[in-house]
Amino acid sequence: MVLAERHALVTGGGSGIGRAVALRLAALGAAVSVVDRDAASATATAEAITAAGGRAASTTADVADGTAVAAAVAAARAAHGPLLVLVNSAGIAGFAPLVDLDEATWDRMIGVHLRGTYLCARAVLPDMLAAGYGRIVNLSSVAGVRGGPQLCHYAAAKAGIIGFTKALAQEVGPRGITANAVAPGPIDTPMLRGSGIPDAVLEQSVRNMPVGRLGTADDVAAAVAWLVSPDAGFVTGQVLSPNGGGYM
Ligand code: NAD
Repeated sequence: MVLAERHALVTGGGSGIGRAVALRLAALGAAVSVVDRDAASATATAEAITAAGGRAASTTADVADGTAVAAAVAAARAAHGPLLVLVNSAGIAGFAPLVDLDEATWDRMIGVHLRGTYLCARAVLPDMLAAGYGRIVNLSSVAGVRGGPQLCHYAAAKAGIIGFTKALAQEVGPRGITANAVAPGPIDTPMLRGSGIPDAVLEQSVRNMPVGRLGTADDVAAAVAWLVSPDAGFVTGQVLSPNGGGYM
């Protein structure tokens, strides 16, 4: 129970990687506040945690909305006390050639991923600064490291998250707080399945991976759980990429 006495906020905790992270951190002893724009799925994750004997609460919020984020963090604090762990996993997918990429789609992609990461980190940071301890993990993507066709908006947001994470790591490292990015390859979640990637492209991508399979949400949750553990206190400003060896 390496996370006993810790309170973790997980955005996008209603589905996929965020849900797997929430369940895993709870199994390691953390109280978990699940934040998602989808109320039913956030509630379902929190209920799964409490049914397994863990501590959890859920809140509905759009992470791109500063007022909603502040309210969600206040509700989380009221339920389980100061937040010392933050995992930013809320995200959306989308493919579009740049010539067809309209401004609203661009703004929403940057808004959910990059603005959302900034807003959530800013909201929980006072608890971590007061405690002299904190763990922040931001979900980037292999696309944020190497790009990808029809992914200018997504890749830009995910690359921005890496820059944000490195800057934050330098700023708050002396205060006992680490910040790291996790950049997964293709992970078998509702996002991947609903993204419109043709099966043939996915199959090709798996053929190019030394491990020969898609990743699972648990593969990523295991990496996140280590980064937020006390054991990872000397690891900050890093980009850990669970990608089956598809990108080295
Ligand atoms: P998912 O669609 O299964 O889950 C994402 C969750 O985020 C959903 O519950 C959704 O409701 C929530 N969400 C979306 N927009 C939100 C908003 N504005 N405010 C609050 N909640 C919001 O996706 P996933 O595959 O678990 O992805 C999680 C993260 O991992 C994302 O940031 C994604 O970009 C990143 N990622 C995923 C993959 C992959 O292949 N699945 C690969 C690399 C990176």
